[in-house]
Amino acid sequence: MVIKTAEFVKSSGKWQDCPEPKIPEYAFIGRSNVGKSSLINAMLNRKDLAKTSQTPGKTQLINHFLINENWYLTDLPGYGYAKVSKSQRKDFEKLITNYILNRKNLVNLFVLVDSRHSAQKIDLEFIEWCGENGIPFSIVFTKADKLKGNAATANVEKYKEELLKTWEDLPETYLTSAEKKEGGDEILQFIQTTNEF
Ligand code: GDP
Repeated sequence: MVIKTAEFVKSSGKWQDCPEPKIPEYAFIGRSNVGKSSLINAMLNRKDLAKTSQTPGKTQLINHFLINENWYLTDLPGYGYAKVSKSQRKDFEKLITNYILNRKNLVNLFVLVDSRHSAQKIDLEFIEWCGENGIPFSIVFTKADKLKGNAATANVEKYKEELLKTWEDLPETYLTSAEKKEGGDEILQFIQTTNEF
C-alpha cells in the first residue's frame, strides 16, 4: 500500500469520544517503550506523526490517524508501566478494554512485543484476554535489528511455542524493525487485503 496521506485526527480520553466509526480501523498496542510510535512512523514513512518516547504513565489517550482518507490507524496507550498508581492503572485498563470491546469498526488489533525478550506475563495475559473476547489480533515483534543473525527469528519461534501451550491456532505474526524500516510493508499489505480500499 502506498501511503499518500497520513494525518492526525484527534486524541480521545474515552472510547465514546473517538471519531465516528464509519471507516475500517486498525489499532496498535503494547507495553510502554516497546517501539510502537517508532514502528507507526516507520511504516507510514512519516518522521514524527506518532510521538516517540512519551513519558510512560502520563495522561493516557487514544490517538486516531486518518490514512489515505479511507482507514484509521489507532495508537493505543502503552500498558504495563510499573510506576503508576492502582487507580490510574484501573482507569487505563478500562479505557483500553472498553475501546477494544466497543469499537465497531475495529478490524484488527496489532499487539506489539519486543523481539529480544521471551514471552512476558503481562503480554500473554493480554493476548489471552483478546482470545477470550474474540478480538481479532496479530502479534508484531519489534526491534529485530537489536539482535544478531537469526536470533530474532528464533525468538519468534520460541514465542509461538509458548502460545501453542494454550492456543490451538497461532495468530499472524510480523517481525519488524523501525530502525531498518522492515516489516511495516507486510503489515500494510495485511491491512490492504482485509479491506477493499
Ligand atoms: P513506544 O513507547 O512503544 O512508543 O516506544 P518508542 O517508539 O518511543 O521507542 C522506545 C525506544 O526504543 C526509543 O528509544 C526508540 O528509539 C527505540 N526503538 C524503537 N523501535 C526501534 C527499532 O526498531 N530498533 C531499535 N534499535 N530501536 C528502536
